[in-house]
This record gives sequence, C-alpha cells and structure tokens, in this order.
Amino acid sequence: MNEHYPFQVEPLPYFYDHLEPCISIETLHFHHDKHYAAYVDNLNKILDDYPRLQNMSLEQLITYVPHMPKAIQVPVLNNAGGVYNHQLYFHEMTHASGQRPYERMMALLQSDFGSYDNWKKAMTEAAMSVFGSGWAWLLQNNVTKRLAIQITPNQNTPDLTTFTPLLLVDVWEHAYYLQYQNLRAKYVECWFDLINWDRILPL
Ligand code: MN
Repeated sequence: MNEHYPFQVEPLPYFYDHLEPCISIETLHFHHDKHYAAYVDNLNKILDDYPRLQNMSLEQLITYVPHMPKAIQVPVLNNAGGVYNHQLYFHEMTHASGQRPYERMMALLQSDFGSYDNWKKAMTEAAMSVFGSGWAWLLQNNVTKRLAIQITPNQNTPDLTTFTPLLLVDVWEHAYYLQYQNLRAKYVECWFDLINWDRILPL
C-alpha cells in the first residue's frame, strides 16, 4: 500500500477478465476504476488542506479520526476507509479460483469456528445480515490471536487497534448489482472461490 498522501490508485493484481464469471469485467471496471478511484481522489482532496495529516498512513488516518477537526471527521472516515477497505478487497482475490486455505489457516478456522464449512456459513450469514451498504470481515484479535467475524456499515473499518483484518467481502450493491441485481447471496457464494489464501497472513 502507498504509505501516505498523495494516495494513488493501486492497479489490480490480475487482469479485468480474471475474476469471470463470478465478477464480470464490467463490474470490476466500475468498481475499481470508478468507485475505488473516487475514494482515492476524495481523500487526497480533503488532505490537500491539512498538511499535518499528509504523512499519515491509511491505518493512522482511520485511527486518528476522533482527534481530527469535526468538519473532516466523517469525510476522512468515509474516504480513508473506502481506500483501505477496497485495497484489501481487491488484493485478496485471485484468478486461480477454488483455492482452499493452506494448512495453518485451515487449522485456525477449525479451531475458532469448528470447520472451514462452519466458518463459510458464519461469514455468509454476516454478509447477508448487512443492512444497506457495508462489509463483512474476518479479523484476528491482536492479543488473543482468535479469529472473529464482524460487519461494518458504509466504509467503516473495524477497530484496527484491537484487530488485524485478514479478509473482507464488499456487499455494497456496486460490488454485484450489475450481474446479480438483488441476489447478494449468489455473489457472496462465488466470492469464496476467489480468495487468494496465499495472501491471507494471520499473526
Ligand atoms: Mn466497493
């Protein structure tokens, strides 16, 4: 990830047709080139006027929001979160679809959820439970190292001082509506096969 302002749109680590048929070329172009890029632009525009914040990483910006001037708290939360969340999301996927978690990751999922299938079920339920726009996350507690599932609304992130995000699924309609319309569950189901487990690195 680019360290600090001015943030740049990170290119996808695969070609636009690589996530077909689960995520179409058209969806990926809109999602990456328009939606994600807009968060990058908006964040830079906000930070143009705040030199004091220009050396901060995305994680630092997100964590520092409560100490920022009131006028920019919500815009920074929305746009730094928008950049952070999308960069994780795009980078956790791969065209080599159908991977299963490697041994250590599988052991963690089994230990905290009983089995890979139980985890998948819990993650699906979380993704389906997001009312409106938001995200479902697989997190690891920084202290206990236990895995946890959380949902966040809008472009909010989990508490990054407590948790390390491992992976997340975008359930904003812009992530799936062109292909699936109201059928969020169909998109979530095939998203599991796009996870690039080699990039999911637990503590
Ligand atoms: Mn999105």
